[in-house]
Amino acid sequence: MDSVEGVNRLAALEALRKEDWDLIIIGGGITGAGILLDTTTRGLKSLLIEKNDFAWGTSSRSTKLIHGGLRYLKQMEINLVREVGLERAIVYQNARHLVRPEKMLLPISKNGSMGRLSVSAGLWVYDCLARVKSKEKRSMLAKKETLQTEPMLHSKDLIGGGLYYEYRTDDARLTIEIIKKAVELGGKAINHLEVCQFIKKRKGIQGVVVRDAQQGWEEHLKASVVVNAAGPWVDKVRLLDQHKLPKRHLLLTKGVHLVVPREKLPLSQSVYFDVPTDNRMIFCIPRGRIIYMGTTDTVFQGNIDKPVAQKSDAQYILNAVNAMFPESTLSLEDVESSWAGLRPLIHQEGKKPSDISRKDEIFESPDGLISIAGGKLTGYRKMAERISKKVMQRLQLKWEAEGTKRLQVSGANFDSEEALKKQLNELTVEFSTDFTPENMEELFFRYGSNTREILVRARSYHHNNDTEKALLKGELDYTVSEEFVRSLSDFFHRRTGMIYFDIGRVHRQKKVALDHLSCLLNWDDQAKALQLEELECLLSEVVSFKQ
Ligand code: FAD
Repeated sequence: MDSVEGVNRLAALEALRKEDWDLIIIGGGITGAGILLDTTTRGLKSLLIEKNDFAWGTSSRSTKLIHGGLRYLKQMEINLVREVGLERAIVYQNARHLVRPEKMLLPISKNGSMGRLSVSAGLWVYDCLARVKSKEKRSMLAKKETLQTEPMLHSKDLIGGGLYYEYRTDDARLTIEIIKKAVELGGKAINHLEVCQFIKKRKGIQGVVVRDAQQGWEEHLKASVVVNAAGPWVDKVRLLDQHKLPKRHLLLTKGVHLVVPREKLPLSQSVYFDVPTDNRMIFCIPRGRIIYMGTTDTVFQGNIDKPVAQKSDAQYILNAVNAMFPESTLSLEDVESSWAGLRPLIHQEGKKPSDISRKDEIFESPDGLISIAGGKLTGYRKMAERISKKVMQRLQLKWEAEGTKRLQVSGANFDSEEALKKQLNELTVEFSTDFTPENMEELFFRYGSNTREILVRARSYHHNNDTEKALLKGELDYTVSEEFVRSLSDFFHRRTGMIYFDIGRVHRQKKVALDHLSCLLNWDDQAKALQLEELECLLSEVVSFKQ
């Protein structure tokens, strides 16, 4: 992959400077990634610039669901639910290894905010709007069936439940697989490079000034159009262009998730319930050896570069979960990891955070900066289409509707569930002498059809029967050469999600990973020490609410 710079960072940076870009996109979250893929497939010369790592912002800190947003029906956001609901099926088809069906139970209580009739009607409307396939349509359960489905639920006020399908994903991996696909098709992407200024000429914005803090490199890059997809930083980037923010600006709200070992809350399946004290909704989602739960929704005014879960956030979630599942006695001590994400919502006067629309919006400045904010992970393709239409109008090019609807992201080379299972089986057989089926399954649902490339690399390290080390080195080699990994935390956080879902393994593997990455990326002792310090900081951040 030629735009993964790895060791040759300076050469890659120099190459960017020589080009005249049709489009520069600021921000490598799901929104920027989607725009890069869409515009690249339409033949534009596009460059994506990310100041940290890809998916470093909200796109690695969501609830990790590809969903229509059932709760938005309560707010009568019919068009939003229809659009993202329909997108669910498309995102699933295009990224099967990362988007997996997840049965969700919605318990109905005597004093809850939704009665049996409204849940039934709501789920029916949801099925219709999202054109849900028949085997995934909702079913309504009596009290006894609801308790059989999830025996841990409180039974006192329970009157029944609704069972429906959501799709679970890994937001950061989805982002990186989209970027990889765009790069495969000729797009360019670079991380750890910050846009710090705009280049303005008579016709308005004509490019950006970028800064690489590590290399001490600053350069001017030329572009016909610049799009600001900086998520929670959208207004900060707009302020590089304009002195004052216009009336339509962002309101950031924070959402926290907690991770506990499965044995501490042994749910049989995912549950989505409302919190009686404030009528907000909370998810509890099993994922391998852990369960994660969230989220909160509070106005955020702190440091955007460091949103963390606070004790009050954690306590709110634990109280709600313990009340819903009476045998649960979860305390702060049981939480092994957490994350906090910021929603870049469009400010609406007088509305509570949970009532503000999740619709995306596009702003155009007098000097031509196109900014996009709001929206959902699930709707990234549609947001990208709206942007590419605008960009192509500016460039006086013809725009056609088809776009990326049938384009599989990197790693998703299978047209059906059967094809996916067949590939996994073939890998399991081919590598059975070196690795267990569990090893391979874990990698497969992270890297899909690219898994073989990792296993081949891992096999070459498989001496002394140290399988865990061999797999780690294989994965590091692959993510450095194919997935833009430049730091320990890029790997343990965004590429593998281990910092959330298997934090013990991060502690166990960090030294081996440090030594191996330092060979791959030529780190000296000082760079190694900095890397370890950054990772330790992240490890304490995810449990900082315990102090
Ligand atoms: P981000 O992912 O934040 O990306 C913006 C990027 O811009 C960042 O990586 C940042 O580093 C970069 N950047 C900023 N300034 C600069 C600069 N000057 N130069 C270069 N780069 C820059 N949606 C769903 O569909 N399903 C869900 O389950 C779901 N759950 C959610 C739960 C929570 C708690 C939250 C907060 C959101 C959730 N969402 C969900 C919404 C979804 O996660 C967001 O809409 C989406 O991730 C936003 O992506 P983005 O690319 O716009 O922003």
